[in-house]
Amino acid sequence: YHTLRVILGDQLNAGHSWFKQRDDGVLYLIAELHPEATYVKHHIQKLCAFFLAMEQFSDVLKDANHHVRYLTLDDTEKQTLESLILTISKEENISCIQLQRPDEHRVLMQYQTLIEHTEQKIEMVDSEHFLLPFEDIPTFFKPKHSVRMENFYRKMRQRFNILMDKEGQPEGGKWNYDSDNRNKLKAQDIGEIPQPLCFQYDVRHLLERIERHGISSMGRAENELLWPVNRQGALHLLEYFCTHLLPNFGRFQDAMTSKTPHSWSLYHSRLSFALNSKLISPKHVIKAAITRYKNSNDIDIAQIEGFVRQILGWREYVRGMYWINMPDYREQNALNAQRDLPDYFWNGDTKMHCLTSAIGQSLDYAYAHHIQRLMVTGNFCLLTDIEPNQVDEWYLGIYIDALEWVELPNTRGMSQFADGGWVASKPYIASGSYINKMSDYCTSCHYKVKEKTGELSCPLNSLYWRFMVKHRERLAKNPRIGMIYGNWDKQNDAQKHAVLERAEWCVDNINAL
Ligand code: FAD
Repeated sequence: YHTLRVILGDQLNAGHSWFKQRDDGVLYLIAELHPEATYVKHHIQKLCAFFLAMEQFSDVLKDANHHVRYLTLDDTEKQTLESLILTISKEENISCIQLQRPDEHRVLMQYQTLIEHTEQKIEMVDSEHFLLPFEDIPTFFKPKHSVRMENFYRKMRQRFNILMDKEGQPEGGKWNYDSDNRNKLKAQDIGEIPQPLCFQYDVRHLLERIERHGISSMGRAENELLWPVNRQGALHLLEYFCTHLLPNFGRFQDAMTSKTPHSWSLYHSRLSFALNSKLISPKHVIKAAITRYKNSNDIDIAQIEGFVRQILGWREYVRGMYWINMPDYREQNALNAQRDLPDYFWNGDTKMHCLTSAIGQSLDYAYAHHIQRLMVTGNFCLLTDIEPNQVDEWYLGIYIDALEWVELPNTRGMSQFADGGWVASKPYIASGSYINKMSDYCTSCHYKVKEKTGELSCPLNSLYWRFMVKHRERLAKNPRIGMIYGNWDKQNDAQKHAVLERAEWCVDNINAL
């Protein structure tokens, strides 16, 4: 072989131009690596999903007569990515190493080490996945500056001519239908929620291998994996989404329920793993959803716009924010949060029903939807000053779709406000009444959502005011949140004192909540 092409676990893009022609001089390398499986404690289903998707991708390439070397943990032992690439290229007398641009800064640094340690020719090509070319990131984003997603998203709609009418105006007359997308699920809606489409891939060999190599993980292990791990699975899930879920996607996007344990993903697509491993492209997903919207009469503009905004807007936006701010992003802690993450994040064992539901579901399925991540677990960490490194580590490990480029701006930025507002224009905080409005969690909770003080009061109610008071100097001037201080100032001193006392008890005894 003259050329070695390296394919990472999140570069399973069969449409990449690398594969257009077969070449007997090219060897593809796909490898399970111990350091990748352990840089953070991953959910066991996430480990299985990536390894199985890599295995199946390798089979697809072999079936198309490409030359592939697939290495398991048994073959690679504890080698790093750099040393493995060097070993193989020496063994095979390779003259050119080709890489696809990685999406994570950690891997880019490894590739730089590789470049420094070899005389060999190394070429880096694009991964051909995102809509916004990597080179264009600096035209939209500035380091350490707030950039609003909404402005970026509008430019993306115009640039790619997505959901635009002939006059160059947004289809339907509005850019954003967010205000139509905040419905709670009523009792009669709950029975209508479709079951998630789950696959049944046998992963027993992977569970055995992961255990044999002493890789520690979290979450519920199942012999059968329910996530799509190949292109057919991803297309099937997309089709299922467009037919059964898209008609209600926006409407119930923010809703939460624990009344239907079999419908844990509600009307969400669950396409994030397929997208982030690149089994499917964002362009393909957007096109399929818009085609379905145009050809059917049960999908209105608010549903399709809400979905397109997540992929064309949020997903491309967080990638831009990540790359423009790395590696500094990882160090941000604007609110100086220092507390340890409580133990129940690892087992769901708390009396707060909202947390038990969101954490329990995450441990069971390696999945929670956006509002569970932002307004339940994220909100709790923000209100209780959990140290952002620990918050990041938890999110980066537990979710099936968690890769640092998308996890970090969402967690440290949007959810923890640790970047001081680069991503979010205000901290996303909520008391119990928001959770009660958007979910049915509070009806079966140990704590009372209407109470602010006393040992049965919902901890979020007092923690909310503790946060507001603590950060008054920073937030009082914020046009989106500053006016809330009026409600606090109206209360008498005894009330304020009791609320803050309850909140201090909650943070001091965080593991007992
Ligand atoms: P849907 O609701 O069906 O949305 C469709 C697609 O839009 C998703 O698959 C995803 O690709 C994209 N999308 C939606 N919201 C976002 C967003 N905020 N940022 C980027 N893409 C988005 N998403 C990840 O892919 N990986 C992560 O590690 C991750 N960590 C998060 C951490 C926190 C604290 C928060 C608040 C959000 C995080 N998200 C992350 C974003 C979002 O929660 C998930 O993308 C979504 O829940 C995945 O489920 P789904 O495929 O059913 O999404």
